[in-house]
Amino acid sequence: SSVKDQGIVQSTCAYCGVGCGVDITLSQGKASTLKGTPEHPANFGRLCVKGTHLLETIDLTDRLLVPLVNDNEVCWQDAIDTVATKFKGIINEHGPDAVAFYVSGQMLTEDYYVANKLMKGFIGSGNIDTNSRLCMSSAVSAYKRAFGEDIVPCSYTDLENTDLLVLTGSNAAWTHPVLFQRIERAKQINPNFKVVVVDPRVSATAATADLHLPIKPGTDTALFNGLLNYLLEHDGLDNEYIRQSTEGFTNCMSECSAWTLDKVSNFCAIETKILIQFYQCFLASDKVVTMYSMGINQSTSGVDKCQSIINVHLATGKIGKEGCGPFSITGQPNAMGGREVGGLANQLAAHMEIENEQHRDLVQTFWQSPCIAEKQGAKAVDLFDQIHSGKIKAIWIMATNPLVSLPDNAKIIQAMEQCEFVVVSDCVSSNDTLEFADVKLPATPWIEKNGTVTNSERRISRQRNSLMPAGQAKHDWEIISLVAQAMGYKGFDYNHPQQVFTEFASLSGYKNEGDNSRIFDISGLSALTENQYDLMQPVQWPINEKYPLGCKQLFANGEYATSSAKASFIAVTPKLPEQQINDTYPLSLNSGRYRDQWHTMTRTGKAAKLTQHLAKPFLSINPLDAKKANIENGDIVTVRSKVGEIIAPANITDEQTSGQCFMPIHWNKKFASNATISALYQSNVDPISGQPEAKYTGISVEKL
Ligand code: SF4
Repeated sequence: SSVKDQGIVQSTCAYCGVGCGVDITLSQGKASTLKGTPEHPANFGRLCVKGTHLLETIDLTDRLLVPLVNDNEVCWQDAIDTVATKFKGIINEHGPDAVAFYVSGQMLTEDYYVANKLMKGFIGSGNIDTNSRLCMSSAVSAYKRAFGEDIVPCSYTDLENTDLLVLTGSNAAWTHPVLFQRIERAKQINPNFKVVVVDPRVSATAATADLHLPIKPGTDTALFNGLLNYLLEHDGLDNEYIRQSTEGFTNCMSECSAWTLDKVSNFCAIETKILIQFYQCFLASDKVVTMYSMGINQSTSGVDKCQSIINVHLATGKIGKEGCGPFSITGQPNAMGGREVGGLANQLAAHMEIENEQHRDLVQTFWQSPCIAEKQGAKAVDLFDQIHSGKIKAIWIMATNPLVSLPDNAKIIQAMEQCEFVVVSDCVSSNDTLEFADVKLPATPWIEKNGTVTNSERRISRQRNSLMPAGQAKHDWEIISLVAQAMGYKGFDYNHPQQVFTEFASLSGYKNEGDNSRIFDISGLSALTENQYDLMQPVQWPINEKYPLGCKQLFANGEYATSSAKASFIAVTPKLPEQQINDTYPLSLNSGRYRDQWHTMTRTGKAAKLTQHLAKPFLSINPLDAKKANIENGDIVTVRSKVGEIIAPANITDEQTSGQCFMPIHWNKKFASNATISALYQSNVDPISGQPEAKYTGISVEKL
């Protein structure tokens, strides 16, 4: 049933990091229609095809509606007691690092905050990581290294008010469609607005670009190092900005100066004349935004790639101004909220550092907690490795499907088979991960959830519930709080998400005297009443005494969150992906989203309109490579890598460069047997961020 008989509920789309506002009309106890919120600053009424069909995904088929222990229906109290008793037993016997939480960018900030508080402040382990590790943790590490804090310095309006937009590692036309619509519209209004797309394949985004650079996969760092060198040689740097607001430039240039046009052209396998066109375009543009996404982050050198982009913006002073900046766009609806509350294993809440004693003291005092994690926990891939090795004995997975999304699927299956105790909270009754659960906890889905999310431009929006929880489903923050209380911990007696949110907002402003170093501060929202929280309008953080209405432009004064207040150049040496092609696996495999589907399809797979256009997975392959393997369009092919094997129909297309293949990430056992692409990727990670490579591995392709 709906929360009210009729009227409109304003909420936020459940899918990507654009964070579009949606207006849901309720009538006769049902959510009857949905459209974009005209005044929401992320979308101004626009929606993409996924958002438009959200209401087709909310029926109760396939819903998990009761708690199950060993597949037997139990009451909530028994389920909670089972989880609390087992977790406590393992902690008592093996210590706090023997348990872990694996959470999700689909959770609301309130859910994320409570999970992080329980694991880091009460259990006393850093072992909570999130599927956002697979999405943008390289961007986080690079921002922190350059700016001293995980700060996204741009806003969506910068994408419209720029002269040059460089899109690299992003197929925004499919992955962030409403942002792409905004970009296309800005281009129509301003004929001088140029779009350059850097992508090894002719993606839907690349097809519309003024200039497309189909560089060799994984060579972005060389491209941007070469750009910096070109700008230096052509008097294109802002020396005053470099002197006043940055440090480390000389060291950075000692690496970049080696990247001549010829060297970049060879390394990136791109014609020099195209390279020069791009570099000249950058040189001639007063305002430049570089927007990047998973194609940059999901790499064994993802942090370096991000760093090379940031270096260029710092050296040209194209940052902290309208229409300028290095802009990482997140994949999930609340990846950003997770970053803020410390959902990553190497962070504490409110952008505090787990390995900073003062920060630990602050958080522990604020939480009045019995302990606090003193070291970083295991990051996603490492976390499942530790389950595999038996070090972690109990895992609680919330709102995510790692059996489909994590690399080296065979190893993840082994890890889950041998894990002593597996708890899964989800809204669906079956998926690949739930098959391994000892305890299944019914959680509320998007339409029933109430709380906040943060989108890619730091904008906090309310996600409001239109429907009451179905069956016995509970909210994630509520389930976690009940388990915490059953484990004997105090400080979890919340009964409304407003209490969680305002506690988090207070913590963000809780600082030692004179400490103004943390830019993330939403203490201006810490006194919201329930009613004010319900009415809260979208706002970009920070929100505090200095910025009571939020802040669109960060770093406008050229001051950063480092101890010197200067941004850091980081010298980076280009590296190719760790897994290279060879005689046995002669083609490379790239992966990404398809326009009409979302993640592992548990929701979008229910909307007939979304599967109409394309119901099956596919492997895109160049005609030359197909011919060599005697493959016709539509043939079912076996795709093998060093660690796995899948099957899919071949899609022969010139959009793929010869030697490279592409496959979407969504299909899995439930929707197409044996087409889980993660089975092919090895678990190679970026050494700094821990983010796994998901854009490159060697494969062979053979007609079935
Ligand atoms: Fe939802 Fe993203 Fe589409 Fe907006 S662009 S409607 S947030 S999926």
